[in-house]
Amino acid sequence: MGKKALVIGAGGVSNVVCHKCAQNSEVFSSIMIASRTKAKCDEIKERIEKSKYAGRIEIQTAKVDANNVPELVALINEYKPDIVINVALPYQDLTIMDACLETKTDYLDTANYEPLDTAKFEYKWQWAYKEKFEKAGITAILGSGFDPGVTGVFSAYAQKHYFDEINYIDILDANAGDHGYPFATNFNPEINIREVTANGSYWEDGKWVETEPMEIKRVYNFPQIGEKDMYLLHHEELESLAVNIKGIKRIRFFMTFGQSYLTHLKVLENVGMTSIEPIEFEGKQIVPLQFLTAVLPDPASLGPRTKGKTNIGNIFRGKKDGVEKTYYVYNVCDHQECYKEVSSQAISYTTGVPAMIGAAMVLTGEWKKPGVFNVEEMDPDSFMDALNKFGLPWVEDFNPALVD
Ligand code: NDP
Repeated sequence: MGKKALVIGAGGVSNVVCHKCAQNSEVFSSIMIASRTKAKCDEIKERIEKSKYAGRIEIQTAKVDANNVPELVALINEYKPDIVINVALPYQDLTIMDACLETKTDYLDTANYEPLDTAKFEYKWQWAYKEKFEKAGITAILGSGFDPGVTGVFSAYAQKHYFDEINYIDILDANAGDHGYPFATNFNPEINIREVTANGSYWEDGKWVETEPMEIKRVYNFPQIGEKDMYLLHHEELESLAVNIKGIKRIRFFMTFGQSYLTHLKVLENVGMTSIEPIEFEGKQIVPLQFLTAVLPDPASLGPRTKGKTNIGNIFRGKKDGVEKTYYVYNVCDHQECYKEVSSQAISYTTGVPAMIGAAMVLTGEWKKPGVFNVEEMDPDSFMDALNKFGLPWVEDFNPALVD
């Protein structure tokens, strides 16, 4: 029998998740799209109903404040989904997990919980739910986007098929997309800017090594994209991979940024616009970063204007049968192709496709276990097949250039 998913949030990622659920009508028979602004949910529904996926699944919409547990519980009890797919903002993760516990409903998200007042990118709050989910007999899958998400599945796949021991992982995230604006972010500006203005860090020999923001720069020649400057950032999957991958000595994460983006960001930072400390303005408390988010282009509006490709993947080094081995696995995604297919650019696409696949993995029973899990703790094979099937094909290279 077809399954029902409640999709919370109606931004760029939600748009892709909903299109992909409609595409995967073997698993999904119905979705409900619920967000703070119901009109945005209705727009996604309309877009699907005008697309080639029209009529494949039933689509309902609703208004919900995902910070409010009783409101969520009422909606879940009314719609009775088999899973809740959380693609709202990281601030809502815990309230949605609470509502899932109360209604015994499986849960999946793409970003770890963030308290509003600190930019931490840590799993500890969500990992603390492990026992409660086990006792309730329900599954929570954390971080099933691309990074985190596919980067964890790639790690599980490398570990299962190619290595006895993985010693080094470098995750490389390149976006060569050009939207033509002097400055804009590809996903929620507030979350994006919190991420890139925070200190960098990487995991080495059992501990975190912290860096200044953007302190470590490398240049890498990305397949199908070319040479790009990339910078070491802290990224949430480093924390879970450090725990879940055998024999790991070092994990780093690099993301590409152009000089113009960095110069704009520096200016905004220098004048205090990226701060998350509330200030008083005309008798009202405002958070500068939230104000900045309001004046920047909505990431959803970048879709039609963005040209170019993304390349995200992992380079592994380790041992197999006592011999040193290297393995690079990556996906290349084209912004305009994504827009043609689902009316979203590649950043939303590369997040939304794995969120749908992760949910389908739980719904078909393959990833259905009581507890709270990061994706690399699950068997990767069917997920890897589904990436090829649903628009994120991957490429393997056993002799890649390494990052020094
Ligand atoms: P958007 O800002 O485009 O969309 C967020 C949506 O969440 C909006 O529709 C917003 O509603 C809704 N929302 C916010 N607060 C609430 C609330 N209290 N109750 C109900 N709905 C709410 O973000 P994206 O679509 O770009 O990103 C979605 C998620 O995906 C984020 O958590 C982001 O961190 C994550 N992400 C993960 C990636 C990965 O690779 N793992 C990569 C990119 C993003 P409204 O519009 O009405 O305000």
